[in-house]
Amino acid sequence: MMPPLEAVARAGGPFYVPVGTERAVFAAAYRSGLSILLKGPTGCGKTRFVEAMAHELDRPLITVACHDDLTAADLVGRFLLRGGATEWVDGPLTTAVREGALCYLDEVVEARQDTTVVLHPLADHRRSLPIERLGITLAAAPGFGLVVSYNPGYQSVLKDLKDSTRQRLVAIEFGYPAPEVEEGIVAAEAGVDRDCAAALVRLGQAIRRLGAELREVASTRVLVAAARLIAEGLPPRVAARAAVAGPLTDDPAATRGLLAVIDSYLPADD
Ligand code: ADP
Repeated sequence: MMPPLEAVARAGGPFYVPVGTERAVFAAAYRSGLSILLKGPTGCGKTRFVEAMAHELDRPLITVACHDDLTAADLVGRFLLRGGATEWVDGPLTTAVREGALCYLDEVVEARQDTTVVLHPLADHRRSLPIERLGITLAAAPGFGLVVSYNPGYQSVLKDLKDSTRQRLVAIEFGYPAPEVEEGIVAAEAGVDRDCAAALVRLGQAIRRLGAELREVASTRVLVAAARLIAEGLPPRVAARAAVAGPLTDDPAATRGLLAVIDSYLPADD
């Protein structure tokens, strides 16, 4: 049985509210040496979850935000010129492999496919990292775990994960939490009362129903940001315009739609 939420919070880990079976699946996959794929839209708690699991499993966490210029050398390491001499410097993946840390590659589809290929021998039963430039293959230290995330909404044919990469991973699906759970997260993260959090969550759900008109819908992250502005004393509509409408779209028609939804879900400013 997983310990209850209170136990996790008491143990001094990051504040994380479990939303399903994700902790059990993560722990089982990690213990059996399988690599983990976290799937879900931005701002739904993937990074916070990995931080909480690293704490729960008592492993250091090394996080890499992937982008389309990320090369295999950025992950593995490179020779650098220092004081006239060349010196090998480990990349974050190599450090995690040597130290037995959790390595979290956030938005892995952003990285070039030749980059993700270096993950293959690590992600399967070999659990090893070949470093061509050094002519060695490192065996992963006990405790090493590979976690990658991606947002299926952003995927394009080009950026879709290779099947050979996908099939080396155990997938955990993330979505937005149930309303009562999300209310608790917003209230606790921002220090606002339950009524205020509930109004923001209803607003978030209304925006999620707008769906197709927006590239991204309102995430838990933007609701927490709006709640923080309210906790700082801003009127709710002003807070939501700044933290929710502004970040979600630049399109004038979509903005008008969002402002109308904000005005119908949040009380008028004094
Ligand atoms: P992602 O990595 O999926 O983009 P994050 O983990 O950064 O999202 O989550 C964004 C914010 O939403 C967090 O900083 C936190 O305030 C809040 N959050 C989302 N889900 C949870 C959760 N289950 N427990 C606690 N906080 C959460």
